Amino acid sequence: MVSELVLRKLKKMGVTLEYAKGGAFPQFSAAHAGEKLLLLADRNTVGYAQKFAPRGSELCFFDEEEPVPDERMCARAVDAARGCDYILAVGSGTLNDTAKYAALQTGKKSGVLATAPSMDGYASPVAAILKNGFKVSEEAHVPADILVDPAILSAAPQEMIAAGAGDILGKYTCLTDWRLSQFHNGEAVNEEAFSEMLNAVEKFAASVEGIVRRDKAGVENLTDALIISGLAMAEAGNSRPASGAEHHISHYLEMWFVAQKMRVPLHGIKVGLGTLVSAYLYEALERDGVTFRGDAQTFRAAKSIPSVGTLRATLERLGAPVRFSALGISRELFREAIAGAHTVRPRYTVLSLLEELRLTQYYLPELEKAFY
Ligand SMILES: [Zn+2]
Repeated sequence: MVSELVLRKLKKMGVTLEYAKGGAFPQFSAAHAGEKLLLLADRNTVGYAQKFAPRGSELCFFDEEEPVPDERMCARAVDAARGCDYILAVGSGTLNDTAKYAALQTGKKSGVLATAPSMDGYASPVAAILKNGFKVSEEAHVPADILVDPAILSAAPQEMIAAGAGDILGKYTCLTDWRLSQFHNGEAVNEEAFSEMLNAVEKFAASVEGIVRRDKAGVENLTDALIISGLAMAEAGNSRPASGAEHHISHYLEMWFVAQKMRVPLHGIKVGLGTLVSAYLYEALERDGVTFRGDAQTFRAAKSIPSVGTLRATLERLGAPVRFSALGISRELFREAIAGAHTVRPRYTVLSLLEELRLTQYYLPELEKAFY
């Protein structure tokens, strides 16, 4: 369970976070009594939606193998939402994004009953949807309610838990990228957001064995870290506390999968792999005595990242791949992604530093050996 302070901060952001009591959400039910709720669900979550559905609510069921938040799915949700008072996504990524989008289009409020600790968009105002086959980020509203039932979350598919873990391990490296840019370029760091995120990541890291056992408290710590990521971004006013080079690598690969019209591996799975690359680079730069402005301070900050060996073991323990070849990509694409990821976003990371020092090509063979 998140701290009282985090609960209060979320509340200030407009988000009410409620943990289930005996499988029910009394606070949410009381606040929405008499309203007509629209529940969005897919094949994996429809059972939870039916169990939860208050009297008079309506169900918008996406009866397909793997729904994607494209024009068709969004239009269906928007249509259904017109006749309702409130939209509740029963799911994680896609359903949450669709609910946020439908809420924005209809001026209704939305919330989410979390079913998998797979991504950190729960407390984020951004709705990532597909337009003409391209992923676009729509500025929406943050969900008004996040409902967390550890019993549901700890029963989530292993791949989704592995993805959530990968996304959270990536915070170690993106926070270090933030420090790098502070010491190297003088970029401001929001210390409150920084330490809030780091604390949540460390709490998660301490519960990995519990998560492997599907222990509710462990899975709850992972979920909390995913929610706090949204809060940290809101506090920082940008995605610095949640996204660095490991995310840029993931975005680069994602664009390729979308362009090939192939099934895109879960976000956090790709981020977990990117995290290994970033962590490796911080270790290698120090090992090789590479000098740059702010080097000593940066290497000190990088000590908060667990060793590459530990990160790799953690990902493996949770069933996540630790080699890019497991995603079915070519060696060429791997090289292209590492060398090109710094162009994905105008944000200074360890990959930007590598470019600046003209060391990208120098480290590529090592990286390929370790992680392709
Ligand atoms: Zn992420």
